[in-house]
This record gives sequence, structure tokens and C-alpha cells, in this order.
Amino acid sequence: MSRNRAVFLDRDGTLNEKAPPGEYIRRPEELVLLPGAAEAVRRVNRAGVLAVLVTNQRWLARPPAGPAAYAAVDARLRELLAERGARLDAGYVCPHPLDRCDCRKPAPGMLTRAAADHSISLPGSCMVGDSVSDLLAGRAVGAATVLIHPLGREVAESSADFVARHIGEAVDWALTALQR
Ligand SMILES: [Mg+2]
Ligand SMILES: [Zn+2]
Repeated sequence: MSRNRAVFLDRDGTLNEKAPPGEYIRRPEELVLLPGAAEAVRRVNRAGVLAVLVTNQRWLARPPAGPAAYAAVDARLRELLAERGARLDAGYVCPHPLDRCDCRKPAPGMLTRAAADHSISLPGSCMVGDSVSDLLAGRAVGAATVLIHPLGREVAESSADFVARHIGEAVDWALTALQR
């Protein structure tokens, strides 16, 4: 049975500042949380909803990058969250190049894997991210979707269920939606 609900969280541009265009967060010291991100994750934790990271990191496919490089950045993320009383219950990364896997968003492989690993009801969950690929991954599994965009609801062309201006607003909407 799928009993758990989850808020699936994109990482770059959602929880932490994005790297410059075409670049990636490759080292722990480059990871800077966005304002309100830890507090938002903490609200997910307190609601009894799983906080699940799902992140595309295709720079990992190119040597000398690899799992250890990702693990160092991930450890820093979790450390910064923990300093503010927040935690991720699970994390999934797609390290693959384009068009080679079932898990690089917009493909939903990370979400379906998380659902299998943690008994998550996907239609009872919500995907939060700042890219169309995040929305499409969430939509593919029947989850609710929230797009983070600085213009908020003024974004005319979004197909998200909700457009939030920042992670705090996104999580508040998601937690309300999941209670229905
Ligand atoms: Mg992003
Ligand atoms: Zn992948």
C-alpha cells in the first residue's frame, strides 16, 4: 500500500541559488540556501509529509566528477538544512547525460523510484520546482505541481497547478493541497 505523501523538491533554483547559466554547483562551498528554504523544508517535516529531493546533475557524467563530488555537495545541503532544524527524508540524483535514462527530469524515474522505496502515493504528493521539466515529471506521475517563478501567478503560460514566488509560498500551497 502507498501510504506516505511527499513533497518532491528540485534542488538548484528551488532550495539553493542556481549556478550561472551552463554551470553547476560542483563544490560544497558553492551551495547557498535560498531565503526561507530551510524553514519551508521544516514545515514539510512537521506536517508528517516526506521531503524528497529529486535533482538533475548531468555534470556528474563527465570525469573527474562522480558520486563523491555529488555526495560532498549533498552533505553540505543537509548540513545547512540541519542547522535550521530541517531534513530531507530521501534524495535522488540523475547523474546521466541527456537522453540516456528514465530518470532525468522531465522523465519521472526518480519519483517512481522514491515511491517504490518509501511507499509514497504519487497522486497524493506534490512536485515543487523552478523548471518546466520539474512540472512535467510531476505531471507524468499524477502529482500536483508547483512552479516557483519570481512573477508568481502573473506567469501566464504555466501549466502548473500553482505558481509560487518562492519556496516558502510553494510549500505552503503544497501542504494545503495535500490535506485535501
Ligand atoms: Mg531547478
Ligand atoms: Zn538519469
